[in-house]
Amino acid sequence: MRLEKTFRFEAAHWLPNVPEGHKCGRMHGHSFRVTVVVEGEVDPSTGWVMDYSIIKEAFSPLEKQLDHYCLNEITGLENPTSEVLSVWIWNKLKPTLDQLFEVVVEETCTCRCVYRG
Ligand SMILES: [Zn+2]
Repeated sequence: MRLEKTFRFEAAHWLPNVPEGHKCGRMHGHSFRVTVVVEGEVDPSTGWVMDYSIIKEAFSPLEKQLDHYCLNEITGLENPTSEVLSVWIWNKLKPTLDQLFEVVVEETCTCRCVYRG
């Protein structure tokens, strides 16, 4: 069974490696949505895979690092595409969230990147 918890944060970025004149090469902001998905068996006594608050606690330090910052200034996010950001989040979460199954990063309502490690 899978549990999904969604987080939101605001951040600026620009993409340094896009062709000259590409709109993503200019500094701009997004209301990012990140969904953290864990997978596991339902514990017969608790009736849950895990407490949602464990996911929240695991993501909390990342939210503090990302929210209202320019992503390009964060180590490892010098080229902050959704793809790079989802791998960055995965690598930060996996050590404390062993049951991590998927990280979804949405820059806009219609664009999302799904990473499964
Ligand atoms: Zn963008």
